[in-house]
Amino acid sequence: MKLRDQLADRLDRVMTWDDKFNFKCHSGIDCFNSCCRDVTIFLHSLDVIKLRRALKITSTEFIEKYTHRVISSRSGLPAIILKMNEDEAKRCPFVRETGCSVYESRPYSCRLFPLDTEQGVEYTFIGNPTKCHGLLETHEWTVEEWRRGQGLREYDDLDHNLKDVMNAHEQWEQAIADPRMQGMFLTALYDPDRFRKFVFESSFLQKFQVDDDILEKIRDDDVALLYFAAQWLRFSLFGKKGFLKINRDYLERKKSEVLGNKGQ
Ligand code: SF4
Ligand code: SF4
Repeated sequence: MKLRDQLADRLDRVMTWDDKFNFKCHSGIDCFNSCCRDVTIFLHSLDVIKLRRALKITSTEFIEKYTHRVISSRSGLPAIILKMNEDEAKRCPFVRETGCSVYESRPYSCRLFPLDTEQGVEYTFIGNPTKCHGLLETHEWTVEEWRRGQGLREYDDLDHNLKDVMNAHEQWEQAIADPRMQGMFLTALYDPDRFRKFVFESSFLQKFQVDDDILEKIRDDDVALLYFAAQWLRFSLFGKKGFLKINRDYLERKKSEVLGNKGQ
């Protein structure tokens, strides 16, 4: 069997962390940049944080300008996809002649290629050597070496923490259908600037008592804010308080306002 055929044969094969594959992508290769077009890239929460920082814009601006929103039919959860340019070539807005202009902040899927994974445990090989000639190079990696080199561990920690939130539909045994709830997910998981405004500029801090050291941290740190947002989702979805403490005085005041209005 020819090398190309052998590699094509590997497509979709399940790989563990010790499995090996050959790959090297570089500017001298004849297919350089050819894969950065007409591709569906689901963005991770951490991708938004990294990309909006690299582009020096707010997460709200990033989401509006660079993404499409989709709703998963299985879970009802919102997700965001990187918007390709609307010309015929449908190139990624970040690709330049010299390569990826946001390379240090590139999305999770771009880091992972030529691999794919659902849970970060088993990997599948998705590169096609008839199109991606980097797979014909001799440089060899194990899956774990590739993961480490591409900075994927940072994503694993977050995924591990967010697992229960992202699988909320499984606990409820049905997809989330309420658009308000879908909007909550979108803001909490993908739009830290909007979520930060919600925390600091709405009645949030009257309803909840949040320790000063946590407030100080989430004021500037998007990743800390994401963990905080996950806790707020847990409270809203499953009633799990965690470090969120309800402000009893506020609740009592609201209760008497409602009762007072009813008595009028
Ligand atoms: S973000 Fe970078 S690596 Fe990913 S598709 Fe766009 S140009 Fe290519
Ligand atoms: S097709 Fe493969 S080798 Fe070519 S630029 Fe894309 S990732 Fe690199």
